[in-house]
Amino acid sequence: MNSNTNIDNLFVPTYKRSGSPFVRGEGMYLYDADGKSYLDFCSGIAVNALGHAHPQLVETLQKQAAELIHTSNLYFNKPQIDFAERLIKHSFASKVFLCNSGTEANEAAIKFARKKAAKISTDKYHVLSFSESFHGRTYASMTATAQSKIHSGFGPLPAGFHYSPFNDVKTAGELLALHDFAAIIVEPIQAEGGINVADVEFLQFLREYANSHSISLIFDEIQCGTGRTGTLWYYEQTGVTPDIMTLAKPIGGGLPLGAVLCTDEIAAGISPGDHGSTFGGNPVACALGAQILDIVSEPVFLKRVQTNGNYLKSKLNELKTKYPSIRSIRGEGLLLGVRFKEDLGTLVDDCKAAGLLLARANLNTVRFLPPLIVSLEDIDNAVNIFHNVLSKGY
Ligand SMILES: *Cc1c(COP(=O)(O)O)cnc(C)c1O
Repeated sequence: MNSNTNIDNLFVPTYKRSGSPFVRGEGMYLYDADGKSYLDFCSGIAVNALGHAHPQLVETLQKQAAELIHTSNLYFNKPQIDFAERLIKHSFASKVFLCNSGTEANEAAIKFARKKAAKISTDKYHVLSFSESFHGRTYASMTATAQSKIHSGFGPLPAGFHYSPFNDVKTAGELLALHDFAAIIVEPIQAEGGINVADVEFLQFLREYANSHSISLIFDEIQCGTGRTGTLWYYEQTGVTPDIMTLAKPIGGGLPLGAVLCTDEIAAGISPGDHGSTFGGNPVACALGAQILDIVSEPVFLKRVQTNGNYLKSKLNELKTKYPSIRSIRGEGLLLGVRFKEDLGTLVDDCKAAGLLLARANLNTVRFLPPLIVSLEDIDNAVNIFHNVLSKGY
């Protein structure tokens, strides 16, 4: 590549990014083309649960790639059976649909819920979601994402989507009474929206309302699931079980993989030809998915996520006592956010320049999403860098 080429000119400008491209990763660290190292507390947005170049994942990937890369869904393949068996063994679900990303998982979940509801009434198609949610960028998922900045310029949007304030039982109840709903979709911890944890009473209300009105309750655990909060799925901590759960991000060990987990009742509404995906259930991605589940579902592994998450949270709470600009420390396990009173400005870029990768959430929250293999020493290092950056004027 000509060194004068502005790499930004190659791409449709959907992302704001800059800096030297990353060329290598190992464990908790990423390295750019200039040889600079970064402590990774972003994990490719909660994807790299086992850090970079995890030896077991690399071995599985190489072995599977040499054996079989693609078959299509005209046939079964062995890794997708292993992966589906593990998802079912470790969750409420009895059936699985496999796809390639989070937005596709939500798209399928909404279609499955509508298909089931259509058998009750052709008017039963409405979908409720919540303010500050994020469900993806394709049409149904984007429409379920209750943020006008994500809809702007893309209309007309699919019909029947309604929005209610998060954690507000009263307003949700009023809205639910207005239409015949097929689905309620909610992130039990909103991640992109600023690390907002759902109240258990709120989830209980949605569960009870859904039960009494034959509505499918969908939990989007794309970011909060797969061990990040210290249990394999976050719903386990709430005592509320959904009818459908969507997964993606960490579940493929870094390869594109999404999954919809559901009850037999939901699956019974679907027939061959109703939905599909050429790549969904790809053998290489599913081999990594099965491996991720074997490692992350181990009680010792999850216990360590809890312990280290609590340690990071206590360290961030110490910083809060030093910086009045910090409003709150939020989240569970290793899905944590530092919310500021004002817009973050260049905080995330300043941390990157200082060698620490973090992720923004909304305008005023910065997310700490380290690989789940993070050590106490890594946490101390990250908090020291963050403290240093804050001390320069935040
Ligand atoms: C990232 C995310 C999505 C979208 O996933 P993609 O793989 O980017 O399509 C949906 N829901 C939640 C909660 C997410 O964090």
